Amino acid sequence: MTTHAPQAARSVTLPGSLDEAVAVLAATPAAVPVAGGTDLMTSVNSGQLRPAALVGLSRISEIRGWQYQDGHALLGAGLTHARMGRPDFAALIPALAAAARAAGPPQIRNAGTLGGNIATGAPTGDALPVLAALEATVVLAGPGGSRREIPVSHLLAGMEMLAAGELIGYVRVPILHAPQVFLKATGRTGPGRATASIALVLDPARRGVRCAVGAVAPMPLRPLDAEQWIGRLIDWDGSRTVVPEALTAFGEYVAAACIPDAAPTEGGAPQPLPPAVLHLRRTVAVLARRALGRALS
Ligand SMILES: Cc1cc2nc3c(=O)[nH]c(=O)nc-3n(C[C@H](O)[C@H](O)[C@H](O)COP(=O)(O)OP(=O)(O)OC[C@H]3O[C@@H](n4cnc5c(N)ncnc54)[C@H](O)[C@@H]3O)c2cc1C
Repeated sequence: MTTHAPQAARSVTLPGSLDEAVAVLAATPAAVPVAGGTDLMTSVNSGQLRPAALVGLSRISEIRGWQYQDGHALLGAGLTHARMGRPDFAALIPALAAAARAAGPPQIRNAGTLGGNIATGAPTGDALPVLAALEATVVLAGPGGSRREIPVSHLLAGMEMLAAGELIGYVRVPILHAPQVFLKATGRTGPGRATASIALVLDPARRGVRCAVGAVAPMPLRPLDAEQWIGRLIDWDGSRTVVPEALTAFGEYVAAACIPDAAPTEGGAPQPLPPAVLHLRRTVAVLARRALGRALS
């Protein structure tokens, strides 16, 4: 372990293992973990955050790779977007690789990590809808070598929280051996934050389609009724195709579930959605239709 004293924080500690990092956090309650720093340092530079001490996670080699475990991949929280975007990772979890390739410019992808994306939990976090659609779990490392595992969706919804001193160690993702798609709409050409995104995965073993829509709400949204409806239309033992009308209907089903009509007024008259919201709903419908079309093609 090495310690420096930079300007922004009184000390920076660089532990070499997950348990060592947790021990430092326990001993220094005011310390804040930092991985790639792409989110954290933005807050520090803008003066929103003044951490008394930093615990750097970049030297913890055990969380920078992945391993197979009982039909799952155990992904280290320190995996960078750049690493997840490479072909060998794309062969394993195509949607997560596609999301990683879409996350910001190259400098951000080289430094930003999976764990940081989850811990920040921004609505525009590109990995988040993918993890929600895959029903991934996070393995949290706590004091004394303790580990607990919770669904990523619980963490993002605030149903369960990281306890003081806990770190995201790993993300457990099922290997589905079936098409997966991630699509993202931005308000500009080139790298940009999502205005809407969708992750869609086929799960032939459970004869299911799972999807999650990102950026339109504080956390990824799962349109469960639309998933079940389309899952029943797919001929899982045959060609795995649906008629074009079903693709369109699925897109609209997903969009209406994630961006519902406004509540009726007291007199019962339906309130029209503002044009910007209608546009967002159309964007989600197009993303969902295309994602399903690509997954089934
Ligand atoms: C210009 C720019 C463009 C961006 N574009 C995108 C984009 O298109 N898509 C996208 O998804 N994101 C984007 N981001 C956001 C950012 O790059 C990602 O969220 C990235 O994955 C964050 O990872 P990090 O390692 O840099 O996190 P850090 O900045 O190091 O940490 C972020 C937060 O997570 C906590 N943390 C980090 N690791 C752990 C851990 N293992 N356990 C517990 N807590 C932890 C830190 O304490 C901090 O609170 C962009 C950021 C910038 C500056």
